[in-house]
Amino acid sequence: IVLDNINVNFKQKGRSMQAVKSASLTVEKGEIFGIVGPSGAGKSTLVRVINLLQPPASGRVLINGEDITAFKGAALRRVRLKMGMIFQHFNLISGATVFQNIAFALKANNCPENQIAGRVKQLLEQVNLSDKANVYPANLSGGQKQRVAIARALANDPEILLCDEATSALDLENTEEIIRILRRINREKHITVVFITHEMDVARKLFDRIAVMAEGEIVEIGDTYRIFTEP
Ligand code: ADP
Ligand code: ADP
Repeated sequence: IVLDNINVNFKQKGRSMQAVKSASLTVEKGEIFGIVGPSGAGKSTLVRVINLLQPPASGRVLINGEDITAFKGAALRRVRLKMGMIFQHFNLISGATVFQNIAFALKANNCPENQIAGRVKQLLEQVNLSDKANVYPANLSGGQKQRVAIARALANDPEILLCDEATSALDLENTEEIIRILRRINREKHITVVFITHEMDVARKLFDRIAVMAEGEIVEIGDTYRIFTEP
């Protein structure tokens, strides 16, 4: 993933503000890359530029060497299939069971009907939730909901997983379980992970490298060890 000189502007109360200012970074294939910084720093906005949920005002987005910045329609859908996303508040469909939540993602990508049940079963095994297929989200803990969201995000075998404050609504025990699952997925499936957080403990435990953002700018990028040890 290459973000090259990205700028994003928003209108707030009739005035323009720069949410992301000249941000550049490269995430290598197979990395667990973190973006940290205080609330309002522009982390969410920058990550949403990667899958063009937030088109930049200027700058380029490259995925596997391909400039996708101007992609629309079918071309954009094709690159978005390479990327799964999970959120702080899980964003599950409350009126659908765990099975149905994951099946919807498979159907949206034209998975053959006769393969759906087997594929859902496989995905639930990956997140240690095989016994919850017929449960509704309201009857799951926060950690279990996030594991369903991870299974759904993995439904179409993405190369990249984008995680926006994915552990921020969870207690320590569930946070550690999500960290273990993401590490395992990264290791076994070679999925590149980009993870935003304001939780420094998560950053220290999970990330290979870190970008630090403040007021829309990337102020530092480096190995996790260096970011945490150098003044
Ligand atoms: P972070 O993820 O670091 O908390 P965000 O990327 O969510 O930061 O927000 C960065 C800035 O951009 C904030 O000032 C926020 O209010 C503003 N912002 C984000 N999204 C929008 C939007 N859709 N419209 C207007 N302002 C926005
Ligand atoms: P985060 O937890 O990442 O800081 P926010 O709560 O700031 O997220 O933003 C949640 C959603 O609201 C995002 O889709 C963001 O783009 C949008 N948003 C944030 N700030 C504003 C704003 N000032 N005006 C309009 N939309 C906003």
